[in-house]
Amino acid sequence: MSKKSVERVDPLTLALPLGGVDSHCHLDGEEFAPDREEVLARARRAGLSQVGNVFLGPTEFFARRHLFAGHPEVFFLLGIHPCDGQTCTPDSLAAMRAAFVDEPRLRAVGEIGLDFHWDDCPRELQYQALRDQLSLARELGLPVVIHCREAEEETLMTLESAGFAGWPLLWHCFGQGPDMVRRIVGNGWHVSVPGPVTYRGNAVLREAVALIPRDRLLLETDAPYLAPVPWRGKRNEPAFTVFTVRALAEARGEDVATLWRCCGDNARRFFGLQTALSTSSLEA
Ligand SMILES: [Zn+2]
Repeated sequence: MSKKSVERVDPLTLALPLGGVDSHCHLDGEEFAPDREEVLARARRAGLSQVGNVFLGPTEFFARRHLFAGHPEVFFLLGIHPCDGQTCTPDSLAAMRAAFVDEPRLRAVGEIGLDFHWDDCPRELQYQALRDQLSLARELGLPVVIHCREAEEETLMTLESAGFAGWPLLWHCFGQGPDMVRRIVGNGWHVSVPGPVTYRGNAVLREAVALIPRDRLLLETDAPYLAPVPWRGKRNEPAFTVFTVRALAEARGEDVATLWRCCGDNARRFFGLQTALSTSSLEA
């Protein structure tokens, strides 16, 4: 393999007007312990007015939500990941319900779904965890965020048979082709586009994201994973959405700043966030 040197462009040189949203990242993890405050400050300066932090279970949520006490621009998602399906017990479901009742910053149930790539958890337990958490979302009237890896057909079937066509639902980390866009959009759902849309080999993905209706389109990092070019292989962070939106705009033949705002508005509508830009202490 040839050693190419990649120019690591500073995301702040491509900063966009405040109004963007990173709909999905994991800033509560150890990867961000050394510099979480700087990462959030950079997100703001890059043009993100809100950031959605995904907690992977109620234990993590209750132990770590304090990390964002001084950051009203961070909203929360909470769900048991399919790879941890065996932890979706009656007790943890009760803890999740308590969390949603107690914390207004929690805006959606997710990421939940099916993952047959890692197969860390027996499939029947993954199905059970997904169904139980869909019931919780229905009971609480909350949007759902889906994680799906190598289980597209099975996830679609489970959601459709559970009556979730037409429900506010976001397909997180979209990485498939045009057929999946049609099926997701046909069910009335939203699509969130991550960093791999910038990868040279992903022409099919760029073809697919060009088909997503404008009002169903969101942006995400899934940080610390899946950094876009030119940071591919490094730790991802919310500010890097400025690279992702450029690739997305190019694939769709749209203006970058307009699309940035549009994806942000879609996220605010989907998660029921304030339209007004938060006045956090970040720049103080
Ligand atoms: Zn995630």
